[in-house]
Amino acid sequence: MLRAPCSRLAYFSLHRLIGSHMAKHYREFLALNSYSSQYLKELQTDRLRRLLAKTIAGIPFYRDRVQPSGNLALRDFPVLTKADIQQNFQNLMSPQIRQEYNSGKRSRSYSWLTVQTGGSTGMPTTVIHDKKFRDFNRAARLYTQYLCGFPIGTPYFKLWGSMREINDSRGSIQQRVASFLAGEIIFNAFKMEDAEIDSYIQQINNSSVEYMMAYSDAAHRMARRIAQTGRTVRPLKAVMACAGTLTEEMRRTIAKAFGGARVHNMYGSRDCGAMACECAHQSLHVLDNKVILEAVDPQGSSVPAGQPGRILVTILGNYGFPLIRYEIGDVGVLTNKLCDCGLPTQVLDRVEGRSIEFLVTTSGGYISPIYFRHLIGVVHNPGAIRRFQIVQYARDRAELALEKEPGATEASVGSSTENIRRDLIAVFGPEMKLRINVVDRIPEADSGKFIFAINKIRQPETP
Ligand SMILES: [Zn+2]
Repeated sequence: MLRAPCSRLAYFSLHRLIGSHMAKHYREFLALNSYSSQYLKELQTDRLRRLLAKTIAGIPFYRDRVQPSGNLALRDFPVLTKADIQQNFQNLMSPQIRQEYNSGKRSRSYSWLTVQTGGSTGMPTTVIHDKKFRDFNRAARLYTQYLCGFPIGTPYFKLWGSMREINDSRGSIQQRVASFLAGEIIFNAFKMEDAEIDSYIQQINNSSVEYMMAYSDAAHRMARRIAQTGRTVRPLKAVMACAGTLTEEMRRTIAKAFGGARVHNMYGSRDCGAMACECAHQSLHVLDNKVILEAVDPQGSSVPAGQPGRILVTILGNYGFPLIRYEIGDVGVLTNKLCDCGLPTQVLDRVEGRSIEFLVTTSGGYISPIYFRHLIGVVHNPGAIRRFQIVQYARDRAELALEKEPGATEASVGSSTENIRRDLIAVFGPEMKLRINVVDRIPEADSGKFIFAINKIRQPETP
């Protein structure tokens, strides 16, 4: 196919033009296949050593917490929680980024970036990606597409959350050109009423594109609609399922709906980027050159391979804002297995996210929980909201609680509430009666788990 190499060249040229060195990192990912597991291990150890040394030397948060020694190891570093990041945001920055952050002036136009996330826990978190890590991260995302069979330039459907059409926000021209060159055909995962799903299916049938990248829950929702309506859908070769837990039932339903498509689970997050992706053999390969994943017990000690543990992520880079043993909020199972496909990385047996629930629109459509995370955690988060929880009691009645940061005033949260209300009503429907409460504390469920989206419609109506 001529389109793929031409688009790839144009895509990398566009990024080179703005100061990105993504292509170099992408070549490293493509070379992973030729590494021995021993060589990959050494590369990882080397990157870790450099990260820990640079962190101790330059990051105030760690200067107070870790004893410097010649032989620093990961276990010398404390677990980094989302609350730690919120409370020590500036102390986690390198001096240069802190200076630029506070002065509002950057030395280059293509530079570090603040990244906000609702996360899987409903606790909005802001981190910083330095310039190098932005490139590394983008290359990692491209590599996961490669693992799923559609390398850069191969056209694909992207069933993804987009605020466009909901509140009129649009990406920059540069983003739109990059998206075109990458071959993306975008379906909005935040607009998933039956009529919209049917129109996406129609577009798939009218096109010759053979791949799809999607939020797991949105792909599952589309697959269930296909099964319910008995529609014939043109088979796809592969579906890459991102952003959320992919259960075996979801995998089967999606594969069946799209004519036996291979379903690849991709594990990543906004704050850490792509971390693991399934190959054609269905092994979830950890991107060992970019991250170290640990599975630990509640005390922070490693659990044996094959047993579930809280996942801690260490990013092998991002010296400007190191994420070391970062507790991302997922539970996962690591293995000692090597995959037959020849890619010599560690393999994750599975990842289980927190339990999240779907809410419905006033006309009975479905709203991805990821929409709430994105809207409240990313789009309308002035840094004053610590956690949020939305509870739906009836199709036309819901309550949103916004827990404010200690020290934040009600007014600082209040400035966001009208925008949040407007965008929530736009999605739920105009009949929705939405109450928004700004509170000091949202209680956990009896199980101790914090669930940020709760659907109580099927239960007796007792708010
Ligand atoms: Zn494999």
